[in-house]
Amino acid sequence: VPELPEVETIRRDLDHALVGREIRSAVATGQRSVRRHGEAAEFVTAVLGRSVTAMGRRGKYLLMSLSDGAVLVLHLGMSGQVLLVEPGHAAIAHTHVMLGFGPDLGLRFVDPRTFGEIFVTRAPPVELAHLGVDALDDVRSAAQLGAMLRSRGTKLKPLLMDQGFVAGIGNLYADEILFAARLRYDRAADSLSAAEVRRLYRAMSSILDAAIGHRGSSLADDQYRDVFGAVGDYQSRHQAYGREGEPCPRCRKSIVRVKTGGRSTFLCPRCQA
Ligand SMILES: [Zn+2]
Repeated sequence: VPELPEVETIRRDLDHALVGREIRSAVATGQRSVRRHGEAAEFVTAVLGRSVTAMGRRGKYLLMSLSDGAVLVLHLGMSGQVLLVEPGHAAIAHTHVMLGFGPDLGLRFVDPRTFGEIFVTRAPPVELAHLGVDALDDVRSAAQLGAMLRSRGTKLKPLLMDQGFVAGIGNLYADEILFAARLRYDRAADSLSAAEVRRLYRAMSSILDAAIGHRGSSLADDQYRDVFGAVGDYQSRHQAYGREGEPCPRCRKSIVRVKTGGRSTFLCPRCQA
C-alpha cells in the first residue's frame, strides 16, 4: 500500500515531467475511479485544455494544480499506479484514466483493486479537510510533535496511522519509525518523555527522508511502482517490518510480529519500550 514516501517519489517525477504541459486528451473508462463525478464525461470536461501549474502532495494524496485554478486530486488507494508512457504504448490492464500531453507523453492511472480515485475540485480541496498535518512537510519540531501527542491518550501506532492526526504514515512506515525511535506500538501517546518525543521526531523525519531517497518500498505482495514502472529500493533497508524471526539489527533479539486490529506489527521486544 503506497504511503508518503512512495507518493512523494511519484510527486517529484510528475513535477519534473508535467508542470507547464497541457492536457490535450483525456479518457476515463473506469467509472469507479472517477466516482466523485456524476459521469466520466464531467471529469474529462474538467481537465481538458488545462495546463499543469504545480504538483503538490498532502499525506497520501497527489495534488495537480491546473491553470483554471482547479486541482486534480489523485489517491492511489491499495493498488493504484501512475505511469508515464508514450501515447502509442500498448494497453495496460486495469487502466481507468488516460491523460495525453501531446505527441510524446501520456499518463495512465492503473488500479486493479479500484480503491484509488481521481477527481477535480476547487482549490483548496475541501474533500481533504479531514487530513491532519503532513508528516514530512508540516511536523517541524519535537516541541510541536510533543504538543500534538499530549492532546491524545490513544496508543502510539494507531495514532501515527490516523490520517486526521498526521497525514502520510501507514502500517509499514509506522513500524519502521517506532523501531528507529525505540518505542513500542502500544505506548500511550501522552506518556512519552521529552527525550522519547525527540527520538520519535527524529525517527519520523529520518525514516521518511531515507525512504524517499530510496524511491519507496515495493513489497512482494503489493503493486507499488514509480511513474516509470520501476520498483522502489527501500524494502531492503527495512529494520523491523516483515522481519519476523530475524535478529534485531540493534540487539540481536528476534523481531516478533503481533496482530492488532487485523494488521501485523513488527517490533523488537527488547529494545522498543
Ligand atoms: Zn532490539
